[in-house]
Amino acid sequence: MNQILPNILSTIGNTPIVRINRLAPEGINLFVKCESFNPMASVKDRMALSTIEAAEASGALQPGQTVVEATSGNTGIGLAMVCAVKGYPLVLTMAESFSIERRKILRFLGARVVLTPAELKGSGMLAKAEELAQTHGWFLVRQFENEANADVHTHTTAMEILEVFGEDGLDYFVTGFGTGGTLKGTSRALKERSPHTKIMVCEPDNSQLLGSGIAQERNPDGSPKDSHPNFRPHLMQGWSPDFIPKLTEDTVNAGRIDGIVPIDGNEALRCARELALREGIFSGTSGGGTLAGALEVAQQATPGSNILCMLPDTGERYLSTPLFEHIPAEMTEDEMDISRSTPGYRFDIRSAAAPEAEEAAELDADAAAFVEQVTHDAEQPVVMFALEWCEFCWSVRKLLKKLGIPYHSVDLDSVAYQENDRGGKIRAVLKEQYGVATVPQIFVAGEHLGGATDFFAALKDGSLEPKMAAAGLDMQTLEEDFEPESLLPGWLHQR
Ligand code: PMP
Repeated sequence: MNQILPNILSTIGNTPIVRINRLAPEGINLFVKCESFNPMASVKDRMALSTIEAAEASGALQPGQTVVEATSGNTGIGLAMVCAVKGYPLVLTMAESFSIERRKILRFLGARVVLTPAELKGSGMLAKAEELAQTHGWFLVRQFENEANADVHTHTTAMEILEVFGEDGLDYFVTGFGTGGTLKGTSRALKERSPHTKIMVCEPDNSQLLGSGIAQERNPDGSPKDSHPNFRPHLMQGWSPDFIPKLTEDTVNAGRIDGIVPIDGNEALRCARELALREGIFSGTSGGGTLAGALEVAQQATPGSNILCMLPDTGERYLSTPLFEHIPAEMTEDEMDISRSTPGYRFDIRSAAAPEAEEAAELDADAAAFVEQVTHDAEQPVVMFALEWCEFCWSVRKLLKKLGIPYHSVDLDSVAYQENDRGGKIRAVLKEQYGVATVPQIFVAGEHLGGATDFFAALKDGSLEPKMAAAGLDMQTLEEDFEPESLLPGWLHQR
C-alpha cells in the first residue's frame, strides 16, 4: 500500500488477522484480529468514522456543530480523531473511574472531557451526554443504539474476515461486547455468508447480563431505563456496561448467538500478559478476556477448528490499570544483577558512570564564571539548572508557576547550551562545587537549595517562604487542599 492517502481516516480498518502459535492448544487453529492496528489503536475507530459520516449524510450533523458522546475512552479517542480531521468540536462524558491516559489522549486530540461520578456508572455518563446534547443542541452519537456502529462491522470487519476464511472456513468467531456494535454487525454478515460460523460472546463472570436471561428495561428510543439488576463492577474496561445495549440485544433476539462464555477478570489479565510474553501481541484487558474465551472454546472444539478472536485495542491504554499492577517502575533485582555484571555505567554507583569522560572533565573557567554570575543575579534570584526533557524539572517548574515565582531556567540540554558542550561543562562545575550530579538544582539568591525533592520539602517545612521573601519575592498562598506532591512524576507516588 505504497500510496499517499488523503487523510488519516483512510487507514481505518483492514486490520491484520494473526495466527496464535504458542498459546493455542494442539490441533486448533487460533487466530486474533488485531484492532490496535487502527490509527487510534482500537476497534472503535471504525464506528467513530461511520457514525459521523452517517450523521453527515442524514443531515443530523451540520458543519461546525458540536459532537457529544458518553464513552469509556476508545470511542472518544476514535471520535476525537474523526472530529479533528473534519473540524467538529467534541465533548465527551466519562466516568471518573476510567484510566487517566484515556482522558489525556482525548484532550491531546482537542476533545473536552467532562467527568461523571463513578458511582453513577455507565448510565450516569450517558445521562450527562444526553442532557448536554438537549440543552445545547449538540449532536449525540448514541453509540449503544446507533445502527451505523453495527453497519460498519457488517461492511468492513466481517468482509475482512470472509476474505480470509472464505464462506465456510471459520468455525468460531469470539468477541465481547461493549456496545455490541462489533457483535451485531459482524455476526449479521457472518451468519448470512458463513452460516456454519458459531458466534461466541464473552462477558465478565461476575457481571453476567446476557447469561442471566433477565431482560433490559428500555426507553422508547432504545436507551436503557436503568442499570441491569445483574450488573457488578468488573475488571474489563470497555466491556459490558451496566445495562444490555440495544445493539447487543438485537443480536440475541435475532438468534445469532451460539454461546455465552463467562470470563474471570484475573484470567483476562493473565491472558493479556501471556499474549504479550509468548506471542509478542500487545492487547488490552478486553482482548485478554476475549482470548480467555477463545481458549475455552478451543477446549470444546473439534481438532482442525478455526477460531477467530477479536482483540479490540492496545495494552498501552492500560498503564495505570490493574493490567500493569505487576510491572515495577524501578529496576528489579534481576535487572540490578545484569547492571552489576559489568563495571561501568552502573545505576547503583553514580560516579562509575562513564569513567573515561569523568577523568577528562576539567573544570571550565567560563562555565564556572557563568554559574557564579547566574546564581547571583539580583534581577533573577531564582535559578534552576535543568534539562528540557526531565520530569522532575517539570515538577519544579509547575510548582514555581503555582507559587507565582519568576525564575531563570538554565536548560543544559537546550540548543543554546549545546555548542562546545557548554551544558556539560556547567554540570561539571555544579558537581565539583556543590557535590550534585543530578538535575534540577535550584538556587535562591546565591544559596543552593538542592534538587526537586529538597525544593518540595522546603516548601512543606516552611523554610522556602522566608528565603523567597529575603530575595524580595512574594509566594502566592496555595489552596488548603492542594498537595504539592501531586506535581511530582506520577510514577513516584504509585509505589
Ligand atoms: N473492548 C474495548 C477496550 C472497548 O473499548 C470496546 C468498546 N467499548 C469493546 C471492547 C467492545 O466493542 P463494541 O462496542 O463494538 O461491542
